[in-house]
Amino acid sequence: METVGFIGLGNMGGGMAGNIQRAGYPMVVYDVREEATRPFLEAGARLGSSPADVAGRCEVTLTSLPGPREVESVAVGPEGVLEGIRPGDIYIDLSTSRPTLIRELEVKFRAKGVHVLDAPVSGGKSGAQTRNLAVMVGGEREIFDRVKPLLDAFGDKVFYAGEIGAGSVAKLVHNMIGHGVRQAIAEGLTLGVKAGVEPEPLWECIRRGSLGRMNILHEGVARTLFQGEFEPPSFALGLARKDIGLATDLGREFNVPMPVANLAEQIAIEAMNRGWGEMDSSVTFRLQEEVSGVEVRAPHVDPARAARFITTHPDAE
Ligand code: NAD
Repeated sequence: METVGFIGLGNMGGGMAGNIQRAGYPMVVYDVREEATRPFLEAGARLGSSPADVAGRCEVTLTSLPGPREVESVAVGPEGVLEGIRPGDIYIDLSTSRPTLIRELEVKFRAKGVHVLDAPVSGGKSGAQTRNLAVMVGGEREIFDRVKPLLDAFGDKVFYAGEIGAGSVAKLVHNMIGHGVRQAIAEGLTLGVKAGVEPEPLWECIRRGSLGRMNILHEGVARTLFQGEFEPPSFALGLARKDIGLATDLGREFNVPMPVANLAEQIAIEAMNRGWGEMDSSVTFRLQEEVSGVEVRAPHVDPARAARFITTHPDAE
């Protein structure tokens, strides 16, 4: 088994490094907080004196750091990974970071004959500890295949996203959608409670309605957007526009600010004015495609299979 270097043993890195160590890989660890390395040293890992020292003693070096600033300094700063790493070695960044940065770093590492992957993760601290983690990987396919057993040691959903930076792009898209959806949920629940319904029945409604069954991904994305087919409607835009309008009216009646809901209503009105009222409500995606100058088609994604995946992973974040 190759020797693995791990730099950044925080909430995520600590759990992932623990699973790598339990899988039997010899390890060299480093963190600016030396106390974070202690459990790994007690279990047989060696201590690196700097990122360069770690990289010089390992075939694969991993980093799990707060963000782009730390990644850049640990990768290419003084006594950084690039200083110590040897030609043929592999550097993998697991942080949620800037795609452009890892693309720039890859060029510098490649000049030294080193392979780079970006592999951000999703699943939280508990997922990092229990190996219940999605790992989205960008970089050369051949290198991905080579390190797959190592990635499998700490992630149960490891997949190839594309060229270098693709993992980071996918992760940012994932988190951005999550953040937007959380805001929409916050608006909905505050509206519901202020308009006189208890949180428990509201929660049941969300869980048991089409939202809980993730129809928004199945019907709205896999069946319509990916196919470029917004007709015949499963739920017509005209009806959706009526509903969001009734909800924003209720928000005004009860003085609940709902910026996301009101924005969604404006977009629905614009789509209605295109004459799209009889199409599926997901046709608002088409407006976003227009203003972005890009199309999102994936005709080979089978909607039935997409739905199955969603329902069999209810806890995936
Ligand atoms: P954290 O702050 O708990 O851990 C970061 C670790 O890096 C710390 O132990 C810190 O001491 C160390 N560190 C910082 N600067 C360093 C340096 N220059 N050299 C060596 N070590 C250094 O953060 P986290 O929650 O583990 O997140 C790590 C990454 O994973 C972030 O990019 C985060 O966005 C991402 N992430 C976090 C979660 C989560 O739920 N916490 C989930 C998915 C992804």
